[in-house]
Amino acid sequence: MLEKGSKKAKDAELVVRFTEWYCAAHHQDKERPPLESGGIEAGIYGARVPRLCEDCATYARYAERRTELCRQQPKPFCAVCKIKCYKPDMSEYSRKVMRYSGPRSIFSRYCLRALGHAYSTLRYHRNLRHDS
Ligand SMILES: [Zn+2]
Repeated sequence: MLEKGSKKAKDAELVVRFTEWYCAAHHQDKERPPLESGGIEAGIYGARVPRLCEDCATYARYAERRTELCRQQPKPFCAVCKIKCYKPDMSEYSRKVMRYSGPRSIFSRYCLRALGHAYSTLRYHRNLRHDS
């Protein structure tokens, strides 16, 4: 179970908020009930329960679970992690969500965490170039 207030819980919340924005923009024609997940039960989303379509909810639950089970200490942002524990279709879903929501997060209350994410991604790619 994700522990409310932990770094993992915050990472999971960020991913699911991003998914919520993506879903709101792309899946308006689908039914988007409040999310049911382990993270919801742990209370990591507070009073604002994300509303997601079925596909996005599947991805959100998967992302929550991967985050919860991550054994990296400290946990890096998934985009820069070398382990790549997401299965291919979920990894692809994650890319779609991040491409849409990443740039938009600059104007949200998640902007500091998102900037941290962008910075570590940038540094990761720079290091990759230095390695080769
Ligand atoms: Zn959706």
